Formats: sequence, C-alpha cells, structure tokens
Amino acid sequence: MKKHILVIPGDGIGPEVTTWGKAVLKQIGASFGHEFSFDEALMGHAAIEATGSPLPDETLDKARKSDAILFGAVGHAKYDNDPSAKVRPEQGLLKIRKELGLYANLRPIMLFDELLQASSIKPEILQGTDILFFRELTGDVYFGEKIRSEDRNTASDLMIYHRYEVERIAHKAYQAAQQRSKRLCSVDKANVLESSRLWRETVQEISKLYPDVQTEHMFIDNAAMQLIKNPKQFDVVLTANLFGDILTDEASQIAGSMGMLASASVGESTGFYEPIHGSAHDIAGQNKANPLASILSVALILEIGFGLAEEAKAVVAVVDRALKEGYRTGDIADAATDTNKILGTAEMGALVLGYLQNNQTAN
Ligand code: NAD
Repeated sequence: MKKHILVIPGDGIGPEVTTWGKAVLKQIGASFGHEFSFDEALMGHAAIEATGSPLPDETLDKARKSDAILFGAVGHAKYDNDPSAKVRPEQGLLKIRKELGLYANLRPIMLFDELLQASSIKPEILQGTDILFFRELTGDVYFGEKIRSEDRNTASDLMIYHRYEVERIAHKAYQAAQQRSKRLCSVDKANVLESSRLWRETVQEISKLYPDVQTEHMFIDNAAMQLIKNPKQFDVVLTANLFGDILTDEASQIAGSMGMLASASVGESTGFYEPIHGSAHDIAGQNKANPLASILSVALILEIGFGLAEEAKAVVAVVDRALKEGYRTGDIADAATDTNKILGTAEMGALVLGYLQNNQTAN
C-alpha cells in the first residue's frame, strides 16, 4: 500500500513523542512491505513564532494532500496565563479540524492488564474495560456565539447543534457498535438543555436504522459517575463536544495515564491522529514524556485510516510486550516497579521500535 503521511510535531513534548510515532510507522512500512512517505509541517506556538499564524496556509495545504496526519500537541505556558492573547496555539487545532471537516473524535479506552495498578481505580473494577468514545467535534459551546457585555461582567457561550451534525456522528458510532458488542450509550443533558433534547431526539431516530444495536440514553452527570463506578458497563459512548472533552479525560484515568491514550479525528477528508495529552510544558525537553500514546496513535492510523488491522495489531502487541517485560515511563510507574526498568522517552521509543525491527511481539 502507498500512503503519504503528514507529521505535525507541534509544541512542548509534541516533537519528543512524535519522533517515535513516526519511527514506528516507518518500520511498519518496511516490515509489511508498504510504501509510506512523510512530510512535516508547523502548527501551534512553533508556527506562531515562525510565521505569525498558528496554522500556516502551507500546513493546511500539506494536510489536504496527505492520507493521514500524525499530530503531537500544541500549547505554550505563555498563552495559558494570558487569556487575552489574540493569537493562540490551540486556534490552529480548532481551525484544522474545521477546515478538514473532522467531525468525529474517536477515543478508544484500551486497558493494558499490566497497568491496572497505575490507575487510581481498583483493578477489579477496571479489568475487562474496553470503551470506544465518539465525541462530536464541530459544534457545541466551542463554536457557538461568544458574548461579553460592555461592562465585562457578563459572558455567555452559545451551546448550538444542528440536526445533521448529530446524525452524521451517530451513524459512525452505530456502525462501530455493530462491529463491537452492539451496545451504544448516548450521553446528554436532555433534562435541562434544548440542544441536548435535539441530540436525544436525533439519536432516537437514527437508532431505528440499527435495530441490532441496543441503545441507552444517559445524563452527563450520571455518566461521569458511572464511568468511575462501573466502567465495564460501557461499550460505544456517543456524546457532544463539551461532554466528550470532559468525559474522555476522566476516562484516561482508567487507562492509568494520559500518556497511554490515542485518538482519531475523522470526517470528510484526511484523518487526524494524536495522543490525547497536551504539550505538557512541565516535562518538555526532559526526556520524561511517555511516547506510547503517540505510538498507539499510529495503530489508529493503520486500522482506521488505512484499514490495515494486522499492522495495527503488531503495534499494539509491541507496546504490550514492553509493559509485560516491566518497562515503564515515569507516568505509569508504580511503587512496585523495578527502578531499573523506568525509561525515558527515547529509551521507551527505541525499545518498542527494536521489538518491531526484530519482529518480537508480546509473549
Ligand atoms: P497536558 O496533557 O499537557 O498535561 C497534563 C499532565 O499530564 C501534566 O502533568 C503532564 O506532565 C502529564 N502528561 C501529559 N502527557 C504526558 C505524557 N505523554 N507522558 C507523561 N506525562 C504526561 O495538559 P495541560 O497541562 O492541561 O496543558 C498543557 C498545555 O497543553 C496547555 O498549553 C494546553 O492548552 C495544551 N493542550 C493541548 C492539547 C492538544 O494539543 N491536543 C490538549 C490539551 C492541552
């Protein structure tokens, strides 16, 4: 298979972890006889510094011409403490999602048995959890009208949804549910919000087209609680932009660390694949970041983007092997971990890459 991949490392730990994602993808190409070509582009703070824009036209152009985008993270401390900054790194991310029509964010909550101890939730509650979140990406308070009164003392963000936005992501979520355990939970706040009533009404309509999938509707406040109380009850979870943002970060604790979770944003054109974490300035440049989320993003490119299930499995298997052999980055190490097996970003990346080069997957 011949594919062209655009790598956007971004800011902070983005470049450190993306180096290893790219290396793994290159190796998969070599091992399985695919022709993968690569290009790089700027986004976020790095792009603002170089061009004045968080998403230069050149990056968007390259994105449109590629078959998949491997992204790191954007963000810089100087903007976090300056809410008045007009040009901001995350504007690049919102714009590229909009421009590429990426309306569905898929976040698999994949649990590696070896990391059960790394979570703050009891292992017996976690074991067997396997959730696939579908978070809507183009609507909600993120894109509704934003108002600040003249005296600056009152503010509002419009929570807005159009029926077609709910329909298109609902179809994707139902289709995924058909391939999994045929259960879908739609999360909203229909007891209070009009946009949630539209959401629920639309999902109810779409559900009739998928009679083999069992649908449940849950309020966001209850879902946030149930996710911690009994995560195994969920399979496919479908939700709006804001609720999905919060719920998926909560769910990252099920997997032990943000450094273990990848996501795919898909829609009308090139898919965008990234770790769920941000640019983590607190550890940037210190060889402390966990590169596994970037490497697992590559598994999503292979499976969702290119339909290469076997290759995707090979990537997950080498991550599994590293964990089974006891290797950890600091974020997933627990007190019982042999300190000799605590690795930096580069060492963990090289270990996983080495397994692939030697064709060694989990035992
Ligand atoms: P963050 O995800 O960057 O970090 C949260 C915590 O998790 C930090 O303590 C960090 O050290 C740790 N962490 C994150 N990724 C890790 C990894 N791979 N390995 C080990 N530890 C890891 O979130 P934040 O601190 O809220 O935000 C920092 C910056 O990132 C901000 O500027 C924010 O705007 C940006 N951000 C960007 C994205 C994105 O680009 N998609 C997402 C979230 C936040």
